[in-house]
Amino acid sequence: MFNLLKKVLGKTSDAIKDVAPTKRKVIPKDEFEDILLEADVHYELVEKILTGLPDKINRIQAFNSLISVFQYKADFKESDAKPFVEMIIGVNGAGKTTTISKLAYRYKQAGKKVMLGAGDTFRAAAIEQLTRWADKLEIPIIATQQGHDPSAVVFDAIESAKAKGFDNIIIDTAGRLHTQTNLSEELKKMIRVAGKALDGAPHRKMLILDGTQGSSSINQAKAFNDMIGVDGIIITKLDGTAKGGSVFSIADELKLPIFYIGTGEQPQDLIQFKANEYINTILD
Ligand code: GDP
Repeated sequence: MFNLLKKVLGKTSDAIKDVAPTKRKVIPKDEFEDILLEADVHYELVEKILTGLPDKINRIQAFNSLISVFQYKADFKESDAKPFVEMIIGVNGAGKTTTISKLAYRYKQAGKKVMLGAGDTFRAAAIEQLTRWADKLEIPIIATQQGHDPSAVVFDAIESAKAKGFDNIIIDTAGRLHTQTNLSEELKKMIRVAGKALDGAPHRKMLILDGTQGSSSINQAKAFNDMIGVDGIIITKLDGTAKGGSVFSIADELKLPIFYIGTGEQPQDLIQFKANEYINTILD
């Protein structure tokens, strides 16, 4: 797992490993500052991380200052609810559909009976794409036609999963944040309807953020969090970027736990996020 993380984050760690402090050497504080800025950690956070550090920094000091950014731990417990209902939210293109397939694959591998709900009824392509993943993974999907009420998908998926003894439901949602007029109402209604179909549902609202997008991801996250409240984050596309430092900014700004990181386009390309491993990868 650790090596895998190392491989996929290679671009970030390659970019800075020559200059990052190691067990053997110390680096000047301003070099550490440059490293963080180059990895796309935002400026205010870099200043915060550097506060209290001496002029020359060793690896342990660097590690301790970075780990302090991650105050919120992801809770992987899936409550006793059956089915466990999860809503996946985020802007179009962030990687929602792909991440749903990754979560579904993961749960299925763990022996769970998984069902999908195609709740982005705004885009025909979203329904088709999710249906293709469901077919490929041999997982049932509740879908309707474009333009239909996504809350009906939520209701039908929960009723069907209850009747058939499913363990997990993963529901896609629309992500038209920039062009929307009623996305907020739509999402709130989906949440209300989920709660009517099953007490306590949705049990988790997971936000998908594109790790290559920097501060625009953070603004999106705030918008969704204000709308409906978010329980946790999955950061995608960290395989293709030397800007892995966005993870720090996201954790710091949003004060929300990061559950997973996406490391590729295939269902198996999802790693549970562990702050200490992530930092070790970057510093090694
Ligand atoms: P959606 O519009 O939010 O549903 O986004 P999609 O799931 O369709 O993803 C948008 C694009 O990003 C697709 O080309 C995906 O293959 C790609 N993608 C999603 N997650 C990852 C990831 O972790 N790594 C890489 N390299 N590509 C990803």
